[in-house]
Amino acid sequence: MTLPKIPLAGVIGSPIAHSKSPQLHGHWLKTYGIAGHYIPMDVASSNLTDVIRMLPKMGFVGVNITIPHKEAVLAIADLVTDRAILIGAANTLIFRKDGKIHADNTDGYGFLENLKTGAPGWQPKAGPAAVLGAGGAARAVIASLLDAGVPEIFLSNRTRVRAEQLKSDFGSRVRVSDWVQAGNMLEHASLVVNTTSLGMLGKGEMRVPLDGLKPGTIVTDLVYTPLKTRFLETAEQMGCVTVDGLGMLLHQAVPGFERWFGTRPEVDRATRAAALR
Ligand code: NAP
Repeated sequence: MTLPKIPLAGVIGSPIAHSKSPQLHGHWLKTYGIAGHYIPMDVASSNLTDVIRMLPKMGFVGVNITIPHKEAVLAIADLVTDRAILIGAANTLIFRKDGKIHADNTDGYGFLENLKTGAPGWQPKAGPAAVLGAGGAARAVIASLLDAGVPEIFLSNRTRVRAEQLKSDFGSRVRVSDWVQAGNMLEHASLVVNTTSLGMLGKGEMRVPLDGLKPGTIVTDLVYTPLKTRFLETAEQMGCVTVDGLGMLLHQAVPGFERWFGTRPEVDRATRAAALR
């Protein structure tokens, strides 16, 4: 693969200062001796199209897209993968040699890889998954779980209509419960996923009662600040196998880095340490 002399990539969002992606990609660039750079870019919605169209002309090979542009970027890309269409959002753009902008969503891939690494005993077909939350991240999680062969998804969201929309998009394997009854979904689930922002530093705590959790159930949280949320802490005390959300962030970055820079990076202890630095 022939790269520009100094290939550039980056992440576009607003705000962007909190993003761990520059540390992560910077670590990989250094590890693999690639003479490139990965840059955080705070871009307003009104400038998004102009900025993205300009980047390939400046030596950019691609970018990650984060909040609030993940949905809007679908209309800017020339080619959008089926999974990004199904999820309704993209987090990775590849600037192709023919000038076309290719959009993909790697969040579901990152979620599954993190789960497989953190809970190697997890068998997707073993039983239903309970998903708390129905925002953008939940769409990626549900698409990947259904694709992996999970027989049924129990879904609950504070705003029920959002969960119903997911059911209508993803089909009859998704069953919706009221938020006040979300605790009842846990008893029969082999996997429980928090996709809400509850438990994140500065946000509220998860109030869903967790006493229905069985020992051995795999419990994962997309929130990774703090790494061990109260949700994961309670699940651990109840004998569940817990997986934190940082690995999802690390793994979702792998396909983009490989497409942009031609090397598939390893997610290892050093990668985790670099992202936490
Ligand atoms: P989003 O589209 O804004 O959705 C937020 C979700 O949280 C919705 O389900 C929302 O419910 C729920 N929620 C927010 N406040 C709540 C409250 N007080 N009570 C009950 N539910 C509440 O955000 P997103 O993009 O899906 O992201 C969700 C979380 O996942 C964030 O913390 C994000 O950082 C994290 N995330 C992590 C990764 C990773 O790589 N680990 C990747 C993507 C996202 P309503 O619909 O009722 O508002």
